[in-house]
Amino acid sequence: MAKVTEIKIAKTITQVRNQIKIWQKEGKSIGLVPTMGFLHAGHGSLIKRAVAENDEVIVSDFVNPAQFGPDEDLETYPRNFAADTEFCRKLGAAMIFNPEPSEMYDNPKAYVNIDDLSDGLCGVTRPIHFKGVCTVVSKLFNITNADRAYFGEKDAQQLAIIRKMVKDLDFDVEIVGCPIVREADGLAMSSRNAYLSKDERKAAVCLSKSITLGKEIIHEGMSAKQLIADMSSVIENEALAKIDYLEVVDVELLKPVDKIDGPILVAMAVYIGKARLLDNFSWKPEETITI
Ligand code: AMP
Repeated sequence: MAKVTEIKIAKTITQVRNQIKIWQKEGKSIGLVPTMGFLHAGHGSLIKRAVAENDEVIVSDFVNPAQFGPDEDLETYPRNFAADTEFCRKLGAAMIFNPEPSEMYDNPKAYVNIDDLSDGLCGVTRPIHFKGVCTVVSKLFNITNADRAYFGEKDAQQLAIIRKMVKDLDFDVEIVGCPIVREADGLAMSSRNAYLSKDERKAAVCLSKSITLGKEIIHEGMSAKQLIADMSSVIENEALAKIDYLEVVDVELLKPVDKIDGPILVAMAVYIGKARLLDNFSWKPEETITI
């Protein structure tokens, strides 16, 4: 049951800090859910878990310019702050933080970047993306002093990078990874699904179909090349889909593997029209996968 009926709206860093000081004086634990807004049930699962595990929850709702490349969808990224506020209020979040870009960035010269893990997978098409993500997430950790922060496994590379950043830079925050929430037909929920036309929406199910096949056929000793070929063929059968990448990497450092014999991440990015959609699954040898 939601524990608050009102939600505080913060537009400035000072407003957040003042509230945090009050909560900390009261000995309360704080959960942070970083988002770019246009919230859906995937975000909702993170917020619900944060509400269950913390005394107070802050949802940040900020389309972070620093993580978009020059030719990307910063301007067109879907936004609906009124609906997001109501969504967070109903789930029991205590505060929604919705700063203007100028509040977060004043001619910045300091950034946070994680070597190696940011280079592959999405980093190939989006070379500055994870520098922007790490910088904004670091700022949110500093602003909120959160005890726990919640991230989705849908963005598996992001989650691995944040975990490594927290470890390497000694941020005093527990990172909680949350499972992918899907539509009834299997499509991973994403704010960018709003870009899909009716035909593209139907086509987009090829990502999760490929994931389902991958989970069925994967076994210890299998070559990554074979797994990639079989999974790719599902997507290649869909005329509206174009694979950006489909790779098998180790779960920690995200380096491509040849043979499946340790914990791995199978991750893909696929263009459906102008939408670039992500999906993935993790696997380890001793695991029996239920589909
Ligand atoms: P975004 O607003 O897309 O930046 O996402 C904010 C957070 O919600 C990230 O940690 C995402 O991984 C997570 N998230 C987005 N979609 C889903 C989903 N379908 N299932 C679980 N988590 C998600």
